[in-house]
Amino acid sequence: MVVLILSDIHANLEALEAVLDDARDAYEGLWFLGDAVGYGPDPEACVQRLRALEPELWLAGNHDWAALGKLDPSTFNPEARFAAEWTGRQLSAATRAFLDERQPRLDLPKQDLTLVHGSPRHPIWEYILDAGMAASCFSAFETTACLFGHTHVPVVYEEGVDGAARLRYQPGEWLDLAGTRFLANPGSVGQPRDGDARASYALLDLERGSLRFERVAYDIAAVQAKIRSAGLPERLAARLDFGW
Ligand code: ZN
Repeated sequence: MVVLILSDIHANLEALEAVLDDARDAYEGLWFLGDAVGYGPDPEACVQRLRALEPELWLAGNHDWAALGKLDPSTFNPEARFAAEWTGRQLSAATRAFLDERQPRLDLPKQDLTLVHGSPRHPIWEYILDAGMAASCFSAFETTACLFGHTHVPVVYEEGVDGAARLRYQPGEWLDLAGTRFLANPGSVGQPRDGDARASYALLDLERGSLRFERVAYDIAAVQAKIRSAGLPERLAARLDFGW
């Protein structure tokens, strides 16, 4: 079975639609690694759009928790805090209840996979930013592989005898990971931070143990116009141009 792996949609409906359109016939399952909302202008619509697809697995992210008031907002920078409070006011009671039930970590012994939003050590907060961090996270999960989000950077780290190595890949091509222990991040749908402004996602072939990263362009200007008319901070609009 091929699973569409999404993370960090961040209320960007245009990016989500572009990803769903791009991936349309390529997957049979859908797993989401958290942060459906926060930063972007369409939190309620994004949650409803994703729910309509009935993802088998759906994690909570720190921005989801912030919008629900489950995190101390003073731990966010001023723009993220403003957006979290604005987001909280846009969500329906049903959406709040649904997001409130999500967990930031799921262990799937049957599929031999672990899913976290941040890291297996601290699933809500910790950022796996480099190979050194990745190396220290391999002992925090039992399964062969762990999927994570939160950094908004598409990446895969392979466990080695002395540490972890960041693997090279070609977007659009299957990366064979059978027999390796790895940590992988599909990148962010709605706010990429690797210098590429296009929406990011991944496909995971569970039988073959292979992973494919994909990028897709979307209508950034339309999202920026919505961010500005909602009165959200200008930087949240501007950064989408740069993928940062
Ligand atoms: Zn995020």
